[in-house]
Amino acid sequence: MKTINFYKNKHVLILGLAKSGLAAAKLVKQLGATVVVNDQKPYEENEAAQQLEKIGIEVVCGHHPLELLTGVDMIVKNPGIPYSNPLLQAAMEKQISIVTEVELAYDISEAPFIGITGSNGKTTTTTLIYNMLKEDNKQPLIAGNIGTVACEVAQEATSDHVIVTELSSFQLMGIEKFRPRISLLLNLFEAHLDYHGTKEEYIQAKANLFKNQTQEDFAVVNADDEIVMNVSQQIHAQIIPFSVTKQLIQGAYIKEDTLFFKDEAVISIKDIVLPGKHNLENILAAISVVKTYGCSNEAIQQVLTTFAGVKHRVQYVTTINGRKFYNDSKATNILATKVALSAFTQPTILLAGGLDRGNEFDELKESFDHVKAIVTFGETAPKIERVAKEAGIQIVKRVDNVKQAVEEAYSCSDEGDVILLSPACASWDQFKTFEERGDIFIESVHKLK
Ligand code: ADP
Repeated sequence: MKTINFYKNKHVLILGLAKSGLAAAKLVKQLGATVVVNDQKPYEENEAAQQLEKIGIEVVCGHHPLELLTGVDMIVKNPGIPYSNPLLQAAMEKQISIVTEVELAYDISEAPFIGITGSNGKTTTTTLIYNMLKEDNKQPLIAGNIGTVACEVAQEATSDHVIVTELSSFQLMGIEKFRPRISLLLNLFEAHLDYHGTKEEYIQAKANLFKNQTQEDFAVVNADDEIVMNVSQQIHAQIIPFSVTKQLIQGAYIKEDTLFFKDEAVISIKDIVLPGKHNLENILAAISVVKTYGCSNEAIQQVLTTFAGVKHRVQYVTTINGRKFYNDSKATNILATKVALSAFTQPTILLAGGLDRGNEFDELKESFDHVKAIVTFGETAPKIERVAKEAGIQIVKRVDNVKQAVEEAYSCSDEGDVILLSPACASWDQFKTFEERGDIFIESVHKLK
C-alpha cells in the first residue's frame, strides 16, 4: 500500500455503509482523516456502525441531516445511492468532491488496475480475465462486484500484482483520478435508466473509465457496437478493438472458426466450453486484455477448454423427466434475456418478471420464435403478459412468485423442453438480490423431484 498524505486531516463523510462503506471508513481513518459515517439503517440494528464507533468513528444512523456537510472536504458514497439524494444534491451545490471507494483503492494501490465495464457480460469477462492471468502466474487479484471490496484488496496489493476489477456505471460516476492500465468497454445498451435518468448520462458514466488514461495505457473496445465506437472517439489510450463479425488488423477477431489476436491463432471455437455467441464476444474481449498484458496462448487455451460459466448466468441446473432447467437469474434487463433465449433452439418455457423500471418489453417479441409458454411474476407481470399475448404465445400464466412459476412451468411442459428463468428485470421487488432469486429457483426445481 502506498503511503499518501492526501487524506490526512481531511474531513471525510462516508455515505452508506455495507461492505464497501465499512472498508472505506476504516481505510480513510487509517490514512489520517476525520471520519463521519452516515447510514440509513437504525443504530440498534446496524452492526457495522457499532463496530466503527468502537474504533472512534462518529456514526449517524437512521436519518441524513444536512448539517453533516458542515466542514466536509469529501464524500465517499455507496455506489447504489443516486445523486438525486438530497444530501448529495446539497454537497454538489457546495462543490464537495463525491467519490466511490474504487477511487480510494486507486489512490493507495501499488498494483496497476484492469478495469472492466459494459452493460452485459462484465462478470463473465472479468472472471475469464482473472482465470487466464492466474493460469499464467501473473498474480491477479480480483476486486469489486464479484470479489472483495476494491479498497481492501488494494491494501494488500504490491507492484507485482494486478487488480482486475469489474466496474458498474454507478461506481464510474464517482471517478476523479482512477486510471486503469488496461480498460475494457464490452457493450452499451439502455440500462439503469431509473438511476441515471438519460441514456447519455449512462453512456457518459461508462466513458469515465477512459477519462484519465494516456497514450501509455490501453483501451479494449467492441468494434461491433456503434455506441462504444462513438465513445472511443474520446479515448487517449492506445485502442485495441475486438469483433465477432469482422476481421481486424490490430485486435481480436474470428477467422475460419478460429479466434485470432493480431496475426496469431489463439484457439479454435470447437475447443471452447462456454456456449453462445455472446460469450464469443466476452472471450475475444478477454483475449485482447490478457494478450496486451503479456499472457501466453497456452494459459488462455487452458482456461477456455475448461471454464463452463458463472453461477446464475444461463447456468444448467438439472434435467427432470426430459425437461432441462436453466437458471439465468442474472438477466436483469431485456437484452440479457434475448441473449439467453438465443442460446436455445428447443421449445422453451420462459419464467420472467420482476422490478418495474418503467420500460416496456416489446423488444422481447422478436426472440419468442421457440417460446411455447411464458410464466410471469413480480411487478412487471402485467406488461410481460401483454407482450406474450400480442406475440401469440398460447400459454401465458401469471403467478405470485418464483416457486409457483417453477411448478406452473413444469405442469405445462413436455419432454425435450427447456425451462428457463431469465427474468429481464431486476429482482428487488421480491428478493434481496438476483442470487437469492436464482437460489430459490434452483431449490424449487429440485423440489419437483
Ligand atoms: P454483467 O456482470 O455485466 O451483468 P454477466 O457476465 O453476469 O454480465 O452476464 C449476465 C447475462 O448477460 C448473461 O446471463 C447473458 O444472458 C448476458 N450476456 C453475457 N455476456 C453478454 C454479451 N457479451 N452481450 C450480451 N449479453 C451478454
